[in-house]
Amino acid sequence: MKVVKFGGSSLANGEQFQKVINIIHADPARKLIVTSAPGKRFTGDTKVTDLLIKYAQTVIQQENYTAIMEQIWSRYQEIADYFAISQKLLLPLKTELKDLAVNTYSNTDYLMAAFKAHGEKINAQLLTIILQQQNISARFLDPQTAGLLVSDVANDAQVLDQTYLNLKQWQHVQDLLIVPGFYGVTHKGQIATFSRGGSDITGAIWARGLQAELYENFTDVNAIYAASPQIVKQPTAIKVMTYRELRELSYAGFSVFHDEALIPAIEGQIPINVKNTNHPNLPGTMIVPEQHFHPQNIITGVASSNHFAALYLHRYLLNKEVGFTLKLLQIFYQYNISYEHMPSGIDDLTVIFDKRQFTEKLRQQLCQEVKAVLKPDYLEWIDDYAIIMVVGEGMRNKIGVMNQITQPLAKNHVAIHMINQGASRISIMLGTKQADAAITVSQIYQQFFNH
Ligand code: ASP
Repeated sequence: MKVVKFGGSSLANGEQFQKVINIIHADPARKLIVTSAPGKRFTGDTKVTDLLIKYAQTVIQQENYTAIMEQIWSRYQEIADYFAISQKLLLPLKTELKDLAVNTYSNTDYLMAAFKAHGEKINAQLLTIILQQQNISARFLDPQTAGLLVSDVANDAQVLDQTYLNLKQWQHVQDLLIVPGFYGVTHKGQIATFSRGGSDITGAIWARGLQAELYENFTDVNAIYAASPQIVKQPTAIKVMTYRELRELSYAGFSVFHDEALIPAIEGQIPINVKNTNHPNLPGTMIVPEQHFHPQNIITGVASSNHFAALYLHRYLLNKEVGFTLKLLQIFYQYNISYEHMPSGIDDLTVIFDKRQFTEKLRQQLCQEVKAVLKPDYLEWIDDYAIIMVVGEGMRNKIGVMNQITQPLAKNHVAIHMINQGASRISIMLGTKQADAAITVSQIYQQFFNH
């Protein structure tokens, strides 16, 4: 059997719903469907999840929420009208949306989580109603009944191991199961959501839980591309890639598939097929385990990301000083900061951070503390930092790849600030100035794909 997840743009209006229904019909192995909330119908449109966040904020601020609630409902009404669903069947869904404002919650974080989760919950119920109207024995299954348990972090929950035992009981159900993505319930029975885009995670959890033969992830692109189409014109579509290749590329900005969603799929060794709802006959991209994978190219993809910053420290004889790094890590721990990489030399060390975790004040405090405790000869905060990931299982046994990567960069006067080859030998990470990130990606792409 197959677990199938549809993204927000695949469920944004009646026409898109119809495509989804056709896809469900086309293959009887598609037994469990995961829904997102209705996404954007056109550029400039607002996702229902973002409207729900606004609704929650309006309620928290005790302001009049009728308009925003009605705006959200109109999205579902529009879909229901397309399929001529009666008001009687819709009334319970609208009541659920309205009641969000008067229900009680343990705190505002859980209030926010419950509001957000209803984007997918109402959409899953609506899809069930539409399918039932077409005489399909579809059944809506919520995470509470299913046993999809998550940790107690209201808006960034993690799945609990117990979930996998619970989900097994649904393996042999005859009905087509329709489940909402993006959230689970805590041990206390409260709704908690995954991070944004988390319906991908729900799909992977179900695929592992039911030991599906395939996890199909329907979105609005034909495939995962070897480089961002925003940087490279008509890049090559990746036909097959491994889990870890996608993990490394997601890290530097490949966003077609949520990086956290790979973990349950890896644990269950479930292959993933990313496909386009608008062109379901295209093969899309397969994401598979490493065993039996035969790379077709030296590199599979190249990506860049600008949300990094680096802290550079210089001190003579740093390599001989016992405990230097320990003290540094203690400071990060104290400030609750995680670091990404720490390339070092005999007298210097660079720490690369995801800079989205800093405020200006926190950054200053951290630098002060490092100066006070470690007394470096020189400390510099480098805000202008981009990371480029060059990834490919095909690099593992190949000599001279670094040369191929750096040659076109030298020709184009791109300075490389850092090079890091992962222990897996399937990725090479480069640090550049942000302004050089796009040219770095396009030059590396040309070197490996267009010759
Ligand atoms: N609707 C949620 C979001 O917009 C989750 C998802 O679409 O995957 O983040």
